[in-house]
Order: sequence, then structure tokens, then C-alpha cells
Amino acid sequence: MALKCPECGCVAHTRTSAYEAPSVKRTWYQCRNLDCSCTFTALESVEKIIMKPNKSSVETDIVDETPPKKPQTLNRYGSASKLSNRQQSPV
Ligand SMILES: [Zn+2]
Repeated sequence: MALKCPECGCVAHTRTSAYEAPSVKRTWYQCRNLDCSCTFTALESVEKIIMKPNKSSVETDIVDETPPKKPQTLNRYGSASKLSNRQQSPV
């Protein structure tokens, strides 16, 4: 994301960013105009949630239990087997 420099109006680019709160992000900008080189911060926050996701995600975890029933197919892929174990643990 780019923002205009408050000093000269040139496009400033993002240097770094950090979350102030779960829905508020502070971003550090630096002006691309070398004669200006102004650095400033800006806050970005969630204004409105247009559509919330389905909260029935717990049911999705139960569906994920199906793949570990065929471990022989995944046997030669060590990382694939680890992924199956990781998916089982939260249940
Ligand atoms: Zn500037």
C-alpha cells in the first residue's frame, strides 16, 4: 500500500508496520522524493465488517480427520505424515 507524503505530495512507500490492536495497524512510510525523504506513520483500522465468516469451522476440523485413514499412500512423504498428525491434535 502506498500513501502520499504529507510534506510534498509524492508517493511514499512502506518501510515497516506493526499492529497496535487486533484491528489497528500502524505503518511507517518514507517519501520517495529524495529531496524530501519525509518519514511518517499512518494508522489503518477495520472500519466495517461487510460479511462475517461461518462460525461452524469446528465441523471443518472433523471433516479433516478423513485423510489420515490412508497413511500407506503418504508413507514415503515424511512431511505429509507430520501434517496429518498436526491436524489430529486440535480435535
Ligand atoms: Zn515528501
